[in-house]
Amino acid sequence: MKKIRAGILGATGMVGQQYLALLENHPWFEVSCVAASERSAGKKYSEAVSGRWHMQKEIPQTAKELMVRDAAQAKEIAKECDFVFSALDPPVAKILEEKYAEAGTPVVSNASTHRWTRDVPMLIPEINAEHISIIPAQQKNRGWKKGFIAVKPNCSLQSYMTPLFALHKKFSVKKVIVTTLQAVSGAGHPGVSSFDIIDNVIPFIGGEEEKSENEPLKILGSMRNGEIVNASGIEISAHCNRVPVIDGHLACVSVSFERKPSRAEILDAWKKFRGVPQELKLPFAPKQPIIYREEENRPQPRLDRDTDKGMAVSVGRLRECNVLDWRFVGLSHNTIRGAAGGGILNAELLKAKKYL
Ligand code: NAP
Repeated sequence: MKKIRAGILGATGMVGQQYLALLENHPWFEVSCVAASERSAGKKYSEAVSGRWHMQKEIPQTAKELMVRDAAQAKEIAKECDFVFSALDPPVAKILEEKYAEAGTPVVSNASTHRWTRDVPMLIPEINAEHISIIPAQQKNRGWKKGFIAVKPNCSLQSYMTPLFALHKKFSVKKVIVTTLQAVSGAGHPGVSSFDIIDNVIPFIGGEEEKSENEPLKILGSMRNGEIVNASGIEISAHCNRVPVIDGHLACVSVSFERKPSRAEILDAWKKFRGVPQELKLPFAPKQPIIYREEENRPQPRLDRDTDKGMAVSVGRLRECNVLDWRFVGLSHNTIRGAAGGGILNAELLKAKKYL
């Protein structure tokens, strides 16, 4: 099978590097182009990331020699890729992503820029794969023929949205109180200074609580007249904290339902939950999206973030809540499931459904 050519915008950053590491030997996609700021443009990729390659595996051989392009050259780069992954900083993504879509190149984005654009799908493919059918309306609204934008939600949501959705389908979630403990890699590199985070917890991540409270409503929303309309009747309150962990966002969740399920019903719903990526057998789909850990002290970032290639969500500590109905702890790998791996799964879904 001829591989589909993927470009990576923001290829030198934390998420961009993860894309390159994960896409090595991908069965459907090959990286044909890497782009970043004009600071990196014109250098070989291996030179551009020299001294700031953060992945545990080596830079893929095929990427080392690629010349880093200036991501602002949308029209030229668009000719060399069938689609692009965007791991650009949000202010840059705001300017550039539409230029790529306009030039006829689909954009699979990690940036927050278009998460609130009503005709842009915000995907967790196990939950709302059907939202991709908004894409023709998006193209019509903007006069784009082949290009479009699809985004993934904030990284911390991945730690609890799929477990909540598996329960919501059966028992209707009403209220959620979530406290996240988020890894430093979530802020990119250099991110939070070591002086600020070692021996410390920072109880503030700009804009994160608003994202945690609002994005789930769009993800669970429905499509009407070419727009995604938020789900109603669910209240969410979030506390977001930065903690001295390298990778892996943890979330402590309390939840109430229209009908309170039993412990056995919750565990059964999580165990049996499968979504469209599993049905379609997408290459990056975790076999079992939600894995319950029976041990009283799991999940933990160091032990559980890499479960099923870093794409599965680990949950544990299910117990009754004194205020709402039930509480549990969720964990996912923020730069894999929450960023590049999630983006790759989105692209696989788009390819399987013939949008790429
Ligand atoms: P990062 O490490 O700071 O990397 C930013 C990337 O953007 C670099 O490649 C940088 O290129 C490029 N860039 C900056 N200014 C540019 C410009 N003016 N023109 C073109 N390229 C420019 O950030 P990150 O953590 O990888 O995050 C990337 C995106 O993913 C952000 O939108 C972030 O919110 C989102 N995200 C991150 C995570 C996570 O866990 N880290 C999770 C989900 C979503 P240079 O190297 O040349 O400066």
